[in-house]
Amino acid sequence: MIQRSLLQIQEMLQGSGLLEIQYSFNITGVSIDTRTLKPQNLYVPIKGERFNGHHFLDKAIEQGATATLWSINEPKPNVQDFPVIYVQDTLLALQQLAHEYRKQLKTKVIGITGSNGKTSTKDILAAMLSKKYRTQKTKGNLNNHIGVPLTLLELKEDTEMAVVEMGMSAKGEIEKLAKMAALDVAILTNIGEGHLDTLHSKENILQAKLEIVTGLKEDGLVVFNGDDPYLQHGLGKRGALPHTIESKTFGMKSAHSIYPTAFVTEERGVFFTINDLNSPRIFLPMLGKHQMINALGALVVAKHFNVSYAHIQKGLNHMEVTGMRNEWIQLDDFTILSDCYKSDPMSIRASLDILYGVKGFTSKIVVLGDTGQYDVSLHEKLGKELSTQHIDYVLTVGSLAKHIAKTAATRFSQGHVIFCADQDELLFEIKKVISKGSIILVKGSRGNQLEHTVSKLMELS
Ligand code: ATP
Ligand code: MG
Repeated sequence: MIQRSLLQIQEMLQGSGLLEIQYSFNITGVSIDTRTLKPQNLYVPIKGERFNGHHFLDKAIEQGATATLWSINEPKPNVQDFPVIYVQDTLLALQQLAHEYRKQLKTKVIGITGSNGKTSTKDILAAMLSKKYRTQKTKGNLNNHIGVPLTLLELKEDTEMAVVEMGMSAKGEIEKLAKMAALDVAILTNIGEGHLDTLHSKENILQAKLEIVTGLKEDGLVVFNGDDPYLQHGLGKRGALPHTIESKTFGMKSAHSIYPTAFVTEERGVFFTINDLNSPRIFLPMLGKHQMINALGALVVAKHFNVSYAHIQKGLNHMEVTGMRNEWIQLDDFTILSDCYKSDPMSIRASLDILYGVKGFTSKIVVLGDTGQYDVSLHEKLGKELSTQHIDYVLTVGSLAKHIAKTAATRFSQGHVIFCADQDELLFEIKKVISKGSIILVKGSRGNQLEHTVSKLMELS
């Protein structure tokens, strides 16, 4: 993590306020939260909607902070001898510090954006790189205007590869993050329906994600899912990118830089080979074809940096996965496929694809919460897509998900689509339809918190 003298920090920020005697004090790391602040950290108080970090300076000092940034618009802190660096705006200063620090590092930075699969691709790529290079990655899902600078400031001076997730909820955000990180490589996973409610069209979502290219270094590399029609439209055309930037694609089709030549999905993960004569059978310990597609994108980058297949596989075998995404829970009486993290239509389809493909179960049950978006037609469309051939029972929970049930009910046999108002009712209804040997997919958005139902189901078996 960043280690600099206070004078260096003040210069990187064009700030002011340090006393000469404080110039040589050193900070190690940066914290915006006094609950997790470590001794010697630089405290960066951020003014949020509910809290103003400037009100917690006492706590930061108590926790052992070496110095603090301070917005010039806030009343001056009542501290003597404690180093304060004044800046215009502490959030902008955090971002600027991250950018300045990043520029001083030799680390290769790989940015990942897209509607789905950013965290998964980040975990997969970091695993693939980690056996050859000193590698760091975004912790969990810290992918926004605060998470990205904090991730950059966490980088060690000798880190060779940084895999950084970049999310957005509006136009202009990705550009800012990508420029801050001065990217060597940008990966775009796909364009889905997330943020359709605020950005209004998939074309707008595409444009917002494409901003990542503006943060690439002059000789950077863009890696994108070439099967995604929007990405193909945005990046596949001649002249879409500055001529110094190289682009490579991945996906299922044989036109891509990397595509699978064979694959088998299992409960433990996916086995696949790719279009390289030297490709061994690769094992990805993650569920679903969609994760293999994420891995293809990661492979383009790992190969670009000359990581051997032996190192790639070794890394994957020790992969750390961020939780709550497509967990396979094998119980004595039945099996749960749990994905209670995110539930936009694209990721629902990916989970359904896993469910449709598995064999040997007495019945297949789908439990769906809402997609996290206030869009009735999106839910109605999903209900129309559910396969009567592969699903025995559909249960939905919540008022938006009711629209999934509504359209599904027109095609499934009577009594096989059940709408529930809350999770208590849901559990009651699940108990009626579940039997020995069933598999049940539980998929909902973060707001639905369907992990409660998963825990209750686990107690049943
Ligand atoms: P967020 O925007 O919340 O950070 P993310 O882009 O980081 O999401 P993940 O956390 O990797 O995405 O995955 C979220 C959900 O999308 C999971 O249910 C996962 O299984 C699914 N998913 C991951 N990759 C893909 C993909 N390539 N296509 C479709 N669904 C995917
Ligand atoms: Mg994520």
